[in-house]
Amino acid sequence: MIQDAQVIAGFTGAGISTESGIPDFRSPGSPWMRHKPISFELFMRSAEARREAWRRKFAMDDLYRGAGPSLGHLGFASLVATGRMPAVITQNIDGLHQASGLGEDQVIELHGNGTYARCLSCGCRHELDWVRQCLDADGEPPNCRICGGILKSATISFGQTMPEGPMRQAQRLTASCDLFLVAGSSLVVYPAAAFPAFAKESGARLVIVNREPTPLDEAADLVIHAEIGSVFSEFVS
Ligand code: NAD
Repeated sequence: MIQDAQVIAGFTGAGISTESGIPDFRSPGSPWMRHKPISFELFMRSAEARREAWRRKFAMDDLYRGAGPSLGHLGFASLVATGRMPAVITQNIDGLHQASGLGEDQVIELHGNGTYARCLSCGCRHELDWVRQCLDADGEPPNCRICGGILKSATISFGQTMPEGPMRQAQRLTASCDLFLVAGSSLVVYPAAAFPAFAKESGARLVIVNREPTPLDEAADLVIHAEIGSVFSEFVS
């Protein structure tokens, strides 16, 4: 199918990063399920929720510091290098597709990126090290250096609007591809999980590589229930 395809859309979820040592969301024992998520509405309303969100974020960053790209990430990078996969649409926030060598325009991040912070008022980007230093020194997260607005990890929280640009790019790629290749997603988080179904409806072939069954397995042209590294090591060049 890869050999036949003219335009391939890649689509990844947290499962592609488990072999990098970052646990996924829904597998048993997930550290992401330990606390009730802080919704966007609560983050905006409560200074205590903002302090707690930053504390949790830096604790998780400490656990997974040093994680590098897996064979899965490298396999996708090799597919992009063929020139037939314009970009990888990802639900991940860990920046590991970029770390595998993909450029900013070759990764479409539906849920943002947890490797930096953004001002919710002016959109200005801030480095996490500086946020952390301020939090450690004052016990309070800093405000935006430019406009004084509230800073947040540049990820999309529950209840936060999906980012317009990446959603548009993902729609365009999904509509134009003839092969849609999913790896490491339970395909239950919407609206992201709508893209594989949309690709199929638009006439593309759908391939799903995932350890466990997904709700879209029946609609797919090929389903491989296996470890991502064992499948994608074939492509690493
Ligand atoms: P998910 O946790 O719901 O599903 C991951 C799927 O990957 C599972 O079905 C699991 O069986 C499979 N899987 C795990 N390791 C695998 C492996 N080595 N080989 C094959 N399959 C494997 O993840 P999701 O669908 O991406 O949704 C979770 C949400 O949580 C996303 O929105 C994402 O933003 C967020 N999240 C991101 C990260 C990250 O950036 N690394 C980590 C955890 C959660």
